[in-house]
Amino acid sequence: MGGCRLTRVQVCPPRLRAWSTALSLSRVVEVEAIGKHLLIHLDGGLSIHSHLMMWGRWEVVPQGAPFRKATGRLWLSLETGRHVAALFNGPVLEVLTREHLPQHPVLTKLGPDPLRADYRREEARARLTDPRRARTPLAHVLLDQEWVCGVGNIYKSEILWHARLSPLQPPGDLTPSEVERLLDCTERVLRVAYRQRFGTLPRRVWRTLGPFAVYRRTGQPCLRCGARIARLDTGRATYWCPSCQSPVRVAGHGP
Ligand SMILES: [Zn+2]
Repeated sequence: MGGCRLTRVQVCPPRLRAWSTALSLSRVVEVEAIGKHLLIHLDGGLSIHSHLMMWGRWEVVPQGAPFRKATGRLWLSLETGRHVAALFNGPVLEVLTREHLPQHPVLTKLGPDPLRADYRREEARARLTDPRRARTPLAHVLLDQEWVCGVGNIYKSEILWHARLSPLQPPGDLTPSEVERLLDCTERVLRVAYRQRFGTLPRRVWRTLGPFAVYRRTGQPCLRCGARIARLDTGRATYWCPSCQSPVRVAGHGP
């Protein structure tokens, strides 16, 4: 979409309609993803910011073609003459000016995104071991977009299983090698997930495929040790193996 000129723009939320004229006939300079935030930068200095949460979706189809899933409320439609990009049920949609973007209360606090070229592990490590997170259970830390951005509720459970760490364990209890293991698994699981694009498949498809080690596998055997997968209510459901994800300490090398 980068470089395309917008030929027609429909902005549906009444609070944003005043931007329609400014957005129309703009050229798209860059489309940027930061975690689950999407920014469409335009040549006039405006940026369209969206976040899908659990229920929004973007669809891009050739001009004149039907949308794959014709349900939900249209929030924004961007036409280029060849394609239409449409946002349905968008829970977060705003237009930011060049001045407002660097002061955005959420975007400016986001942690590093392992899927971006500018990802720096040192920054992720420093944020993980920040004393302010020392006593917060990992189940919450992984969803904290100010640590690393891009981890959602499904991959939170998967990353902790791969890292063999309990969701109840806080970062302050991790050994240096466990910190590195958690960083390794976070980077790897997100990259694999992106490649496989499970996040964009309908729920019935990934249920059938069964791509997850623990997510929604309550009562089924752990793929590593055979114990039963359990579900924890940590605000958002967490799935884990209480047998092989419990911290194992060698005498004299841990609390
Ligand atoms: Zn296990």
